[in-house]
Amino acid sequence: MIVAEHAGFCAGVRRAVAIAERTSEVTEAVTLGALVHNPDVIASLERRGVHRVSSLDEAEGRPVIVPSHGLPQSVVNRAAEMGLEIIDATCPHVVRLQREAARAVQAGRTVVLVGDKAHPEIVAVTSHSGPGVMVVSGAADVAIVANASDSADRVTAGITPGQKITVLAQTTQVEHVVDAVAEALRARGADVEQVNTICPATAERQRAARALASKVDLMVVVGGRASANTMRLAEVCREIGVPVLSVESVAELDASTVRRARLIGVTAGASTPSWVMEEVMDAMSEIIEGNQENVQEVGVTPPAHATPQEPEIVKARVEEVYDDRVIVHLETDETATVYLKELVAEVAAPATAVAAVGDEFFVVPDRRRKPSDTDELVASKRQADYLLLWQKLADAKESGEVVEGTVTGVVKGGLVVDIGVRGFIPASQVGRRFVEDLGQFVGQTLRLKVKEVERARANVVLSHRAVLEEEEKQARVEAFKTLAVDQVVNGKVTRLATFGAFVDIGNGVEGLLHISDISWERIKHPSKVLTEGQEIQVKILNIDAERERISLGYKQLQDDPWKSVAQRFPEGTVTKGTVTKLMEFGAFVSLADGVEGLVHISQLADRRITRPEEVVSVGDQITVKVIGVKEKEHRISLSARQAAEEGERSDYKKYMKDQRSEETMTIGDRIGFDLRKLGQYTADDGEKGE
Ligand code: SF4
Repeated sequence: MIVAEHAGFCAGVRRAVAIAERTSEVTEAVTLGALVHNPDVIASLERRGVHRVSSLDEAEGRPVIVPSHGLPQSVVNRAAEMGLEIIDATCPHVVRLQREAARAVQAGRTVVLVGDKAHPEIVAVTSHSGPGVMVVSGAADVAIVANASDSADRVTAGITPGQKITVLAQTTQVEHVVDAVAEALRARGADVEQVNTICPATAERQRAARALASKVDLMVVVGGRASANTMRLAEVCREIGVPVLSVESVAELDASTVRRARLIGVTAGASTPSWVMEEVMDAMSEIIEGNQENVQEVGVTPPAHATPQEPEIVKARVEEVYDDRVIVHLETDETATVYLKELVAEVAAPATAVAAVGDEFFVVPDRRRKPSDTDELVASKRQADYLLLWQKLADAKESGEVVEGTVTGVVKGGLVVDIGVRGFIPASQVGRRFVEDLGQFVGQTLRLKVKEVERARANVVLSHRAVLEEEEKQARVEAFKTLAVDQVVNGKVTRLATFGAFVDIGNGVEGLLHISDISWERIKHPSKVLTEGQEIQVKILNIDAERERISLGYKQLQDDPWKSVAQRFPEGTVTKGTVTKLMEFGAFVSLADGVEGLVHISQLADRRITRPEEVVSVGDQITVKVIGVKEKEHRISLSARQAAEEGERSDYKKYMKDQRSEETMTIGDRIGFDLRKLGQYTADDGEKGE
């Protein structure tokens, strides 16, 4: 198996996902349509609280994340009118295409855009550039449009010699298709300007896929079916003439196709996460190595006489029991024999040890095996059990019912579990977070949700993570009922971010400790006060049960340094402080631990300055006068200018006082004063006299 040199997540998708994930850390948000075209990525974002909606009305006030392929201008405008916050995750390459189209239209050129008219990226581009954009899917369309001279619409009115045309391409287009369109236009005499707007990620993935496809005898393309670039990768490989297997996930792998291939090439669309690609590759390795414990081969081999037609399952009642068989009466009023090997999976005891007269169970009568000479009808309980188990799994998938299974082993890509048949738990579905050591689960009985059931391919895919998430959600709902504002709870810091810290307060409830609620002091990063894993007490400041969001406070449980600030720093106090931060409007000065005041720029100097840096720097010790205290609001206004004036006044007063005292001095005082100055006279000398 060879992986294409360039495959999987591109920078644009990675950026969009990162933006969505970062947003989800602070608030719930929505994406209008798919953020990126991959169902696994969308499902993962859903779990984080980034929901996919199909109209702005469904946003219900939540911020709207613009998908990587952009949104039509009209939609963005409407969102703004509705007061919705827009978080733009449009890929920069898509933005470039939008700009190129708008530029060409403004310059009076006709834009021929090579792409899929219905793709959201193209819908957005045409909306951003207004009329004057003609979308074609290939050179064949040019001929159709060029002859459409009967239309009044300039876009479809045909192509005239000398017409100024700019050829652009959907970012995921195939290069030679775009070249062919440009050539076809030139052939009709158009003045063609061709701007390459295919994104580098697309181009390099296509080149790598093409190079690989020529060396292998099967190409497996992993990615969402709605992903244009994934579909184009498949097209590119087909053009080489190699068979292509396109799969969205491991569940769609066809084991027989994989097994037949001698050398397999693998590539993945730009929106395919690496873990999906790895799961597919791991499962293929298992198939190639002949290991039956992979996703396509996880079921037990059906009994030999299983038929492709849906077998008849009937109720049976045991009437006679012998060592090697039981005779049953069927609900169809027939009598049938169930031989021991069709009664139990492992023949370890006679039938008399496992069945008794009167027992009832289901069997599958094998009417094909009815020998005409004896008229004996045989039936299989094992096959009925097997079929009913698959039915039960299919029902569990529909209803979401939890099934139990024991982990029997670790294979590449996940766990094998015994649920009556063999099931497979992909590695990504084992725990809530990535599990490094899958071996720890061997022998454990897990509660599982059924994700995929295909009896024909003996394929059952299960998820332990889904059960954990559901249980946690339930626990969270219960926990929210007991939590209250102002309650003090124990918690553990799980993660630090620039805007605050996440604290696990038990039962799956994680609250956000905003940076401003960590310390009374102004801190740049939560790590100044907290570390991951630290156990702390926090106060609940706010609860949004509907959105399951909870705000916590840490500083609220510490002594408030502002408590007696009005007494410690009454108005008029002149004191020293340290400059902690410079802003355009002034400087913050720390007067004591956790107590900071603002010196407005107009109060920093006795002359007009335009920036605080002209007179102070961070770390400077300066003298300030308190000119206003608002203890409740934690605000102190300071003035360095008034402090300086005050200083000058008091120096002057002192000078005047000294002057006055000198005037009232006696000569003796003066002499003593002068002598003191000279160090020739001491109090002791005076007392001693001569
Ligand atoms: S495929 Fe290209 S245009 Fe699309 S998101 Fe990725 S980098 Fe951007």
